[in-house]
Amino acid sequence: MAGVFIETMNIDITPLDRWIVTRTASRFPGEPTTGITTQLEAYQLWMLKKTLTLAREKSPFYRNHLKGINLEDLRSVQDIRQLPFVFARDLADHGLQMLCVSQGEIARVTTLQTSGTTARPKRIFFTQHDMENTAEFFTRGMATLVKPGQRVMVLMPGPNFGSVGERVKTGLSQMGCSTLVNGFVDNPGSVVKKIAAFRADCIIGLPVQVLSLARSSRATAHGSSISTNRIKSVLLTGDYVPLSIIRAIKEIWHCPVFIHYGMTETGLGGGVECRAQRGCHLREADLFFEIIDENGYPLPLGQVGEVTVTTLTRTGMPLIRYRTGDRACFLEDLCPCGSRLKRLDRVRGRSVVRLGSQEIRLDEMDEAVFKLDNMVDFQVTLVEATVATAGIHLLNVEFWSIPDKVQGLERKIEQALYKIPAIRHLMDQGELTINSIFASNAKLFSRPIKRSIKQERIKKKINV
Ligand SMILES: [Zn+2]
Repeated sequence: MAGVFIETMNIDITPLDRWIVTRTASRFPGEPTTGITTQLEAYQLWMLKKTLTLAREKSPFYRNHLKGINLEDLRSVQDIRQLPFVFARDLADHGLQMLCVSQGEIARVTTLQTSGTTARPKRIFFTQHDMENTAEFFTRGMATLVKPGQRVMVLMPGPNFGSVGERVKTGLSQMGCSTLVNGFVDNPGSVVKKIAAFRADCIIGLPVQVLSLARSSRATAHGSSISTNRIKSVLLTGDYVPLSIIRAIKEIWHCPVFIHYGMTETGLGGGVECRAQRGCHLREADLFFEIIDENGYPLPLGQVGEVTVTTLTRTGMPLIRYRTGDRACFLEDLCPCGSRLKRLDRVRGRSVVRLGSQEIRLDEMDEAVFKLDNMVDFQVTLVEATVATAGIHLLNVEFWSIPDKVQGLERKIEQALYKIPAIRHLMDQGELTINSIFASNAKLFSRPIKRSIKQERIKKKINV
């Protein structure tokens, strides 16, 4: 578990490594049992059993859900595979029954809309203790990208207790950083001015929103913009991160761009890249991660499957083998920083529409379209239309660019999309037509949600 420093790379080990070693040593009273490979795994097994005991004792949902599970049968943390999964719909249907404390002990409730218009929202409950753990993770994890005394602009919601902005600010204040929690970006031009006035060293936000700021700041030629080399680091979070966005931000601000992986269910924080930027080191003292295949079996390192998470220290509403819906893999090689903590590769985009033998993937379109200079955001709508008796698929692209830089982008977007093999194949076969590409009049970022392909179905006669 202790890191092996690789001199040739000259990269400090992630600060999470030492923190997790200290945490596991302080909480786990016993010596590693024979057959368990590391102190961390012994600790994780110990905490898993504590979580299972708590959940069965206090939560009506888990009492029933974990019926028949014998803790003696769990001899290594890998035996977690004997336990049933928890799905998003369980959170929506039985959220309150999953609580292990009285509602009076809940310090924060987050309501999340699930997919589907009629689906009930998920509600995730946290105690004060759970929220303190989150801030502590942010203190340790952020040390990889900011130094004490630096100024951090957070483009995530705040300031209510337990919001991501508030928890990041609390975590960073422990490091002696000044933090301004702005909320999501609604107008890139005005946020660029705020960043310049605040003299931010670091920016934390959604990938597309931070890209819009970088491209807007470059387009603003006067003193209210962000000067070159002003920004020392960027952390992208809240959605999957296209490589094209990382490259574009690096090119404009000349700074390292880090990825954070996490969601409300992981207690906001989940994992963060170190200076080597080779995947997110996971918060393994609080969370046990698995990657599973479509049949629910754990996959080895390097194979892509669904990210599944078990909370090890959560007291309000523990999650046991929670299926996140995210797709990613654990990285196989040792991180150049030397840490043995598990690393999660970049999460893949979830938005995929299958047409015949082909997949139309938003993440592929993101890589192609965000490469185009002056692009800020776009929304793809796939329309299944019935013309006379025949079915046809039409692709509509509404896009946002830097003001006054719209010229020629329609054609470039069309060319970029046609270069994607699946789209080219469908177009060449006459199964897909790019129907319209147009600059949007709508206000930017009015809905800062996870990106997805919109789908519509129409039956009337249309002009193609
Ligand atoms: Zn590392």
